[in-house]
Amino acid sequence: MLNLESKVQCLEGIGYKRAQMLARLAIETIEDALTFFPSQYQDRTRVISLKEAYEQSQSCIFGKVGKAYERMLPQGLCILDIEIFDKTSMIYARFFRRKKMYSGIDVFAHIKNDFKCGVFAYIYGETKIGSGLGSIIVNDYETVNNENDKPLFFNKVIPVYPTTEGINQKFIRGTLKDILELTCGLYPDVSNLIPDCKGIYKLNSSFAIQKIHYPNSLVDAENARRAFALQEFFVLESALFLWRNNFRKNYKVQKYEVKKTLLTAFKNSLKFKFTKDQKKAINDIFSDMKSVYPMNRILMGDVGSGKTVVALSAILLAVENGYQAIIITPTEILAEQHYITISNMLSGIDIKPVLVTSSTLKKKRERERMLAGFRNNDIKIAIGTHSLIEDRIKFKKLSLIVVDEQHRFGVTQKFAALDKAQSPDILMMSATPIPRSLSMTVYGEIDITTMVHSPPGRIPVKTYSSSEQVAYTNAIKELKNGNQVYIVYPLIVESEKLALKSVVQDSEKLSQTWFKDFKIGLLHSKMMPSEKNEILLKFKNKEFNVLMSTTIIEVGMDIPNATVMIIQHAERFGLSELHQLRGRIGRSSKQSYVYLIVTSRSENTCKRISILTSVNNGFEIAEKDLKMRGPGELMGTTQHGFPKFKAGDLVKDIDIIEFAKNCAVKTIEDDPSLSKDKNSVLKELIQKRFSDKTKFINIG
Ligand code: ADP
Ligand code: MG
Repeated sequence: MLNLESKVQCLEGIGYKRAQMLARLAIETIEDALTFFPSQYQDRTRVISLKEAYEQSQSCIFGKVGKAYERMLPQGLCILDIEIFDKTSMIYARFFRRKKMYSGIDVFAHIKNDFKCGVFAYIYGETKIGSGLGSIIVNDYETVNNENDKPLFFNKVIPVYPTTEGINQKFIRGTLKDILELTCGLYPDVSNLIPDCKGIYKLNSSFAIQKIHYPNSLVDAENARRAFALQEFFVLESALFLWRNNFRKNYKVQKYEVKKTLLTAFKNSLKFKFTKDQKKAINDIFSDMKSVYPMNRILMGDVGSGKTVVALSAILLAVENGYQAIIITPTEILAEQHYITISNMLSGIDIKPVLVTSSTLKKKRERERMLAGFRNNDIKIAIGTHSLIEDRIKFKKLSLIVVDEQHRFGVTQKFAALDKAQSPDILMMSATPIPRSLSMTVYGEIDITTMVHSPPGRIPVKTYSSSEQVAYTNAIKELKNGNQVYIVYPLIVESEKLALKSVVQDSEKLSQTWFKDFKIGLLHSKMMPSEKNEILLKFKNKEFNVLMSTTIIEVGMDIPNATVMIIQHAERFGLSELHQLRGRIGRSSKQSYVYLIVTSRSENTCKRISILTSVNNGFEIAEKDLKMRGPGELMGTTQHGFPKFKAGDLVKDIDIIEFAKNCAVKTIEDDPSLSKDKNSVLKELIQKRFSDKTKFINIG
């Protein structure tokens, strides 16, 4: 029996040859074919008279076929002009083909066969009016024998499919139409589980599929797309909610009680008071930790919003209850920097964290001391890179894993599965605030806390798009006031392929010219970790005035005395990346400045740069970045098993996602194992689409 997984070749009329062609478009099964949706449409609803066509650039015309004239220009370009008449005028339908000199092949044979004198033709194309009679360069056509015969691909909105070399629209349209007619009823439908909602169309899935391929109008097409998207999001949100429920099924072993032995002392030792957002975040986290289920939360806060002390509060709650906690960072530099700031913050309460990186693990004595300390619970807090999760590192009572700058690790890296603790509480932190539509789909199974406001007293960074001269002149002014400057480059060394400045070459140049009176430090990712640290430390201690660097300073660096950042070739960076970089300055009560040096003047660049100069809020920038770049690039999601949507659109469909999520929650709450009859289709869909996740979902 046919089902969605059946190969298209099983269908009557789809032979080996057509199946091979479809395979080149990644269409193998019936499901692939049904959901191979058009990338755009051609509106051919209005067929106009030839007289009218003379006034339009694009048009659909209809007329009777007359004589054909053929000629060949030099270089083998052949032109075929065919007379087309209607009551109002006459026009030539024009075709171009290439042909090898002296080749005997008739390149127009096929067309001439279709356009026999006396038949009728529908033509879609571009009108060209020269002197005398005009012509229409044919983009697509269809011929019918009688004037009143109904055309298949005219008088309606026509799908335009994504295609590849050697496969034309006519082939895809014809083949998909055949498949659609035979099989579209096979597509599973869950619309009966979704209540009505004003503004969101609800259609049976097979009807929606037909309408997406062959809508009556462009509005119709969009409504059908949204209707199909609603079902897609509903199934996804249901799966995510089930998954999340499952996290909650396993009780954890650790238990915490707010004892305040360490926490109060820590709070009192800080030079500042927690902000409202920080208090709320700590509250969320503590109630997760006190719950009987493991915490699985992400803390999203713009750069500089003060996530570190929030994480430390969680860590101290674990420690004051006798447990161990670790912080995992994406880079060695960040680990070391955290190690220093956290050691300082904890010095008042006499707790000493350790630093675990490939460098510290190299030293035998230190390594053995650390490994033993973890095993016997003498060491309470460890800060480190991936090295921390190596197999040889075993903890006695690890209960909390904090992942800093989580966005650097990728969406689906599973820290829960680390095997370092039985049922660890996981706190992830991310400085790339992601748009809500993404957080609801990518992080659907994770709880989210956002920190929107930064600690008081910060002056927003001023951002300009400027010339090098202006940037350097202003930087020197700041340097003379004792402040420090970052200059960021997209490249380490010059490359022949890209005409871009590099940090190595430019530092030589600038140290002899603009910045000859100042000390310049050079930092890039190819350096040894120890070398990098030395440079950073020197910059922190003001032994350098200027730090010229690649983007390795993007995360976590905290050097409040730096008040200027100059970014070379700013057009080479993503918006969120630039915003992250900008977060390195403006970390004190002094006014800070970013100068974006842009070498491209494309419209896209100007638009992006103007977003940065006018918007300071990371969430807003992330939304705009999503709109400009799409979710794949924004999150690096394609590599990370991010769900692909056939019709759903993360930029346009936020209302649908929200609605689908609410419906999903209700459905699952009513039937947590999806065992009721009415939910059988949904259950099947989830099992099929999320087979990698179903082991986490208890629906059998
Ligand atoms: P991020 O969220 O980017 O990780 P950090 O935790 O590094 O931010 O904090 C940025 C800076 O703000 C640090 O120097 C930190 O000491 C300081 N800070 C954190 N919370 C507050 C607060 N409530 N009031 C004043 N300064 C704070
Ligand atoms: Mg941080």
